[in-house]
Amino acid sequence: MMKSVYRFGGGTADGAADLRNHLGGKGANLAEMASIGLPVPPGLTIATPVCAAFYDAGGKLPESVKTETLDALKHVEAVTGKIFGNPADPLLVSVRSGARVSMPGMMDTVLNLGLNDATVEGLATASGNPRFAWDSYRRFIQMFADVVLGLDHYLFEDALEILKEDRGVTLDTELSAEDLQGLVARYKTIVAQTWGDEFPQDPHEQLWASIGAVFGSWRSDRARTYRRLNDIPESWGTAVTVQAMVFGNRGITSATGVAFTRDPSTGERVTYGEFLINAQGEDVVAGIRTPQYLTKAARERAGARAESMEEAMPAVYSELDRVFALLEIHYRDMQDIEFTVEDGRLWMLQTRSGKRTAKAALKIAVDMANEGLITEAEAILRVEAGALDQLLHPTLDPKAPRQVIARGLPASPGAASGVIVLDSDSAEARSRLGEAVILVRTETSPEDIHGMHAARGILTARGGMTSHAAVVARGMGRPCVSGAGTLSIDLAARTVRVPGHVLKEGDRITLDGATGEVMLGEVSTVEPELAGDFATLMEWADKYRRMKVRTNAETPADCRTARGFGAEGIGLCRTEHMFFEPSRITSVRRMILAEEASTRAEALAELLPEQRADFEAIFRVMAGLPCTIRLLDPPLHEFLPHDETGYDDVAAATGIAPATVRRRIAELHEFNPMLGHRGCRLGITFPEIYAMQARAIFEGAIAVAKDTGEAVVPEVMVPLVATARELEITKAVIEAEAEAVFEEQGHRLDYLIGTMIELPRAALRAADIARHAEFFSFGTNDLTQTTLGISRDDAARFLGVYVDQGIYPRDPFVGIDEEGVGELVELGASRGRSTRPDLKLGICGEHGGDPASIAFVEKLGLDYVSCSPYRVPIARLAAAQAALRAKS
Ligand code: PEP
Ligand code: MG
Repeated sequence: MMKSVYRFGGGTADGAADLRNHLGGKGANLAEMASIGLPVPPGLTIATPVCAAFYDAGGKLPESVKTETLDALKHVEAVTGKIFGNPADPLLVSVRSGARVSMPGMMDTVLNLGLNDATVEGLATASGNPRFAWDSYRRFIQMFADVVLGLDHYLFEDALEILKEDRGVTLDTELSAEDLQGLVARYKTIVAQTWGDEFPQDPHEQLWASIGAVFGSWRSDRARTYRRLNDIPESWGTAVTVQAMVFGNRGITSATGVAFTRDPSTGERVTYGEFLINAQGEDVVAGIRTPQYLTKAARERAGARAESMEEAMPAVYSELDRVFALLEIHYRDMQDIEFTVEDGRLWMLQTRSGKRTAKAALKIAVDMANEGLITEAEAILRVEAGALDQLLHPTLDPKAPRQVIARGLPASPGAASGVIVLDSDSAEARSRLGEAVILVRTETSPEDIHGMHAARGILTARGGMTSHAAVVARGMGRPCVSGAGTLSIDLAARTVRVPGHVLKEGDRITLDGATGEVMLGEVSTVEPELAGDFATLMEWADKYRRMKVRTNAETPADCRTARGFGAEGIGLCRTEHMFFEPSRITSVRRMILAEEASTRAEALAELLPEQRADFEAIFRVMAGLPCTIRLLDPPLHEFLPHDETGYDDVAAATGIAPATVRRRIAELHEFNPMLGHRGCRLGITFPEIYAMQARAIFEGAIAVAKDTGEAVVPEVMVPLVATARELEITKAVIEAEAEAVFEEQGHRLDYLIGTMIELPRAALRAADIARHAEFFSFGTNDLTQTTLGISRDDAARFLGVYVDQGIYPRDPFVGIDEEGVGELVELGASRGRSTRPDLKLGICGEHGGDPASIAFVEKLGLDYVSCSPYRVPIARLAAAQAALRAKS
């Protein structure tokens, strides 16, 4: 059986990083830092399973855990030489949360625990610093009141502000010991009045209550929201770490800070972070005092005056630098660190893999591989494929005019335009209505998490590069400008003032998270391209990838974009998209409304040259790469109008009598068009439509082949096949047309005929179907809808509830339902290959661009995935990761 409580510090530790799931990230890393000899204050970690036990016991700690905790506390006392609760020289502790994966700012912390009216005096005498002792006590009361007693923290902040005003000072650090002693008395009165009882004086009572509150914060609303957004299971629970306090608020040789071993926005290899002299950790995040930079270079770049740590505390800084290097070598990843300097001595309070933007993730992975810290394969696995999406969106056009109205810190890169919204609930509400919003706040707190998620970008007036807004925005991939100091928000008037402008909620602004600029109105953007580290990582990925990556595209522009991103062919060209072009819709309608074969033939003859030109343009862009072109799929009435004016317009344009138009449209009406007259059923009933399309494909291909001298190998694909016979019939039509065109043109081409597998029957009968098909492309959009019996167009209304209740782990139209649809794909693939071992297999439903689904089809041995142009790099990386994981 595993223990519940683990000790660390004093050069030893009971657990280490391999116990991460059990000890939480923080507990495991503290243990590991302690065991590799880094300066870590001693402490103990109560393991994650206790969290569930705590809830099962109705919010109580099991007695056995209490006994183990007290035992481990003795170790802390032995290492520090201080006794918990000793009025002469007390051991003080912090109580912090630590889940398996970091959830920054989502759960609660209590610092300076163990102080009471007696021990505060002891601390004052033992430290020779009464001001520090009273400062620590007032902080403890406030945190305990907020976190454990649930009192409003504003009550305490207001009392502090009033005191500072009385004393005529602006900074907390300017208050004297006596001032703070008075403040403690005031705080205790506030507690007694609002909580109804005296502030608890017994350190053990304080300890159990705080541990309970931290376990309790695992189920706070904000922690739940964060877990939902980040797919973190409720069952994991948090660990709780109780650790000897070291004090950054002992005077001007003490400090507290946070740092990253590399820049988490850009990935550059520079020490990045902030610190505050004579302060405790919460002061840095709270944005009350402006933190100072760690390095001289960062200070100079920002044009700040206050000395950097490198300048103010050179010896501690170089020790910190040494520790950073050790941590990177040890963990082989960029670290996010919290530290405290107590009387000139450095202590590490936390290390974890730092959250980073996609851009930084790329650069760090590529750099670390080049530095020899990790392998190329590891670099590929380090970058979350889905996160590349952040880099595949347009960025601000450097040449576009910008009216900059404010500047802040470049806290999270990317560009965003939207309307100003001043609170998170409105941000969520307005974005649900489809509006692009920018959340503008003085500063954000964990309560803003839903608004930040809903917003395109975040702008704050206060807070540094490690403020809540900055950290969370980077994690979410939202552009963020923080600490735009000239911004002032009037929540009552719903306005934002910047020098020279008063903006109203609803006014449009643009943020550039890479430069920190805030601009009036919308600024134009440019398309992203693969260059630099991105291109390097993609090259590496291509070395390890087994599956090919194609694109779903039907215009030359999309084909060009996809090729720029490395697409190796077209996996799905949906020809119906070409039918909607204004120049041809009338001919399409004439074809559909035709009652005689001869009139239909006339309409098709009008369409032929248009389709030929479409295919020719695509073959040219794709320059010999394989192109799968799918024959017409959707029900015909999708091309017809749905109201009276529309009917009259169609009658006028086609020259068909209005009454005939109405009658034909009524005849074509279907109750369930998704399961109606669509796909190859059109080709069976109107073979002339497929014949026209096949002719256009072959004529277009021959024109390009003749012109360029390159081989063009069209792959003609029949949609919605359920039976082998359907394919056999339509295939004969295509082949006859091919022969006719070859004959006429005096030029032959190689070509393939294949089918979509997008109906359960097709997957089941794949062995028969493969007799007529040279390739299969799994259409998992229709296959999902027909296997689950859930209409792809109506699913959104209820699927959210299904996912919340765990009926499907994800939206099955986004991530493939492995158990059901996945099994049909597996069956289709193996049965198809049993007939035709060299059958080419691909997937072209939306799942072809989803990393988890790509990993799934890698295991089935498909030959390629096909996805929309902007997802091609994601698919390349995901396919490489899947291949690497399959090997290991
Ligand atoms: C599919 O059904 O998965 C598919 C790719 O075809 P469409 O989305 O055009 O129906
Ligand atoms: Mg389909």
